[in-house]
Amino acid sequence: MNTRYPYTAGAEESDDGLQQFPESEEGERRSSARAWVDAEGYLRRAQRILAITHLAPDGDAIGSLLAFGRGMQSLGKAVTMACQDAAHPRFNYLGGVHDIRQSGDGAFDLLVAIDASDLQRLGTIFLPVEHSRVPMVVFDHHITNTQFGAVNVVDSNSASSSEIIFKLLRRMDIHITGEIASALLTGIITDTLAFRTSSTTPETLATAMDLMRAGASLHDITRRALVLRSYDSIHFLAAGIMASQLDDGIVYATITRKMRKDMGVKEERGDAGLVGTLITAMEASAAAVFVENPDGSIDVGLRCAPGLDVSQVAFEFGGGGHTVAAGCTLPGPMRDAVNRMLARLRRMIREQ
Ligand code: AMP
Ligand code: MN
Ligand code: MN
Repeated sequence: MNTRYPYTAGAEESDDGLQQFPESEEGERRSSARAWVDAEGYLRRAQRILAITHLAPDGDAIGSLLAFGRGMQSLGKAVTMACQDAAHPRFNYLGGVHDIRQSGDGAFDLLVAIDASDLQRLGTIFLPVEHSRVPMVVFDHHITNTQFGAVNVVDSNSASSSEIIFKLLRRMDIHITGEIASALLTGIITDTLAFRTSSTTPETLATAMDLMRAGASLHDITRRALVLRSYDSIHFLAAGIMASQLDDGIVYATITRKMRKDMGVKEERGDAGLVGTLITAMEASAAAVFVENPDGSIDVGLRCAPGLDVSQVAFEFGGGGHTVAAGCTLPGPMRDAVNRMLARLRRMIREQ
């Protein structure tokens, strides 16, 4: 199922045929000092870099990509920033967002993947024939990362990839401009829901403080990246909430193409934050939102209460994420996707 990148030491298949992600004894993923040194070596030597973030990009994807791109450009390197899908217009306040391309064409001597847990998350930007000849450095914070690069700087203790890029820029003595600071703080604010997630650490707060001192506005970024939404999406969220069901500690909702069309929602993807709202039910051990894509496949967003782990569930279905927030894409039709996932989530709760 996974396209293997030639330099990869990837995820293993277990006896039951399900993919297991490699895990340290502490159940976390921390990148070695060696990986940092190797990554820096690759970056210092590179002249033409293709930097790629994951499809359907969120604030951390866009923020960490822009900060990396601008930072490396300040060293005189040619950096092309790319993502399969365009950034949401809410991120138009970020400098450089219009320089992000939706193609991976060109001649490059280094690929850099940011905030992506596996090669599939790079979507159409990764060109298997051309790019397999070029080394890849991975910067990421997903516990399910498949270590698909030649060098993998993966720290699942980091609340965002933006914090990892901040560390990289500091290590390389790259000046954090106001523009870079705003990009990185955007990533931190969106992935921590403004410092409210269990992934938020004192180091997250210290980084945010440094970024504010470098010129990023906390209140403005929080408002633009997290709070403001279209009136349409409020209706959409309300409809999703009304259509949701609570069953055995699982709150779930399905969003079909027809619902989206009937409501006149312009965006083809996304759940408008529905799964994050459903998991706020006190009765919920898990929440799932099933979104039907234009091609008939089903995007599944997953959340769980502390003590449970949806990252393993998502990973088994070819997706990934974090312990309490993860996702995957299943084949349609909707009813089959819902049945498969609910059965797996019930097992997760039973085996707790
Ligand atoms: P979301 O529900 O879209 O906010 O995603 C929650 C987390 O799951 C994020 O860390 C995503 O990167 C990850 N995720 C969502 N969908 C997928 C997918 N199809 N494959 C891998 N990871 C995913
Ligand atoms: Mn992301
Ligand atoms: Mn992230």
